[in-house]
Amino acid sequence: MTHYIAAYDTESAECLSACRKIVQIHRKFEIPGTFFITGKTLEANPNEYRDLLDDPLFEVASHTYSHQMLRDHPFCGPSAPADQRRNEIILGKAAVERVFERPCVGLRPGCGFEDGFKKASDVLQCLMEAGLQYVSSILWGRDYSLPAPLNQPFTYADDGFPTLWELPGHGWHENLLKNHNCWGARRITLWPPEFPEAVPPTFITKPEDEFAINRVFIEKSALENLCFVSLIWHPWSLAAFDPEMRMLELTFAYVRETGLKSCTYADLCQHASKELAG
Ligand SMILES: [Zn+2]
Repeated sequence: MTHYIAAYDTESAECLSACRKIVQIHRKFEIPGTFFITGKTLEANPNEYRDLLDDPLFEVASHTYSHQMLRDHPFCGPSAPADQRRNEIILGKAAVERVFERPCVGLRPGCGFEDGFKKASDVLQCLMEAGLQYVSSILWGRDYSLPAPLNQPFTYADDGFPTLWELPGHGWHENLLKNHNCWGARRITLWPPEFPEAVPPTFITKPEDEFAINRVFIEKSALENLCFVSLIWHPWSLAAFDPEMRMLELTFAYVRETGLKSCTYADLCQHASKELAG
């Protein structure tokens, strides 16, 4: 059975109003979701986020404290120094736990990386010391291309951390499909492409275009009976493109129709620890 996870990198002032609409759609479909939120975003509106997301339907996890890079990234910049990396991990997790009064078990680093935290033993050590159970840090394809392929869960056993899970993200960073970062044209797709049907010829303009791309990944994950699929979404960018969240309605309806099992990243981590370990 393939799991489907709706997940949101929640990281700017515009995310709060966007999350209100997103939460409505989740409740309508009774589909769970994971909100990776930065400490700073949460601290700016703690009561509002608590009212909105303190719901058994949702997991709140960390998107670091302030979105500083935890390793070098070719588009997003060099790694922060070691003490700052540590603060990003520890303070980001603490902010979630302070506001929601429940454990924060996962972290998605700002921007994500091609190889996640493979061979980044100082970061892995810090994640373990912080008590995190999973990271969602592989968010790019080969050679830092997009869309990110359907990478599946694994542990960092090869790096000496057999209980820490990597639960990647898939497809496009949807903000880049819409030029919402104003990066313009970039050398960002792979050739030959692994998902030619998910590489549009230009920036997309309609929620239906976005859904058509989402469908490629959801359909493939179900056909191949993969463990899970989760697309990389940002509330601020979803709302700027599609204030009514038509894309979410189309995607959630399709997830239903396809018979995938909706869950959160924390649920997937539990599942993986039980079923896939060893
Ligand atoms: Zn982010």
